[in-house]
Amino acid sequence: MGRTRRLAAYRCWLRPEHAGERTRMKVMTCQQLGGPCEFELRGATADEVIKAQDRHLQEMVAGGDETHESALKAMKGRWKRPISGMSWYRQVKREFAALPED
Ligand SMILES: [Zn+2]
Repeated sequence: MGRTRRLAAYRCWLRPEHAGERTRMKVMTCQQLGGPCEFELRGATADEVIKAQDRHLQEMVAGGDETHESALKAMKGRWKRPISGMSWYRQVKREFAALPED
């Protein structure tokens, strides 16, 4: 069920009318957010990118990918430990702010 919705959203995203929106986005990779792969996460804000990474990790692990398990655990742990999670969050925000516009 989730898969069909994701595909529909992805197709929608590829449409030309979204091209303008896409240029205002920034890109971070799964790796930059503590993950193991080069998957690109787009967002207009650091929060969007972090949410995209959260989704990406869950999808990968749900699909049986073991390399993303530790990153997913770390991501979940951050929400439980606000202090250490906050410093990670601040660092991501700094990195995001330093990125050039896509
Ligand atoms: Zn990844």
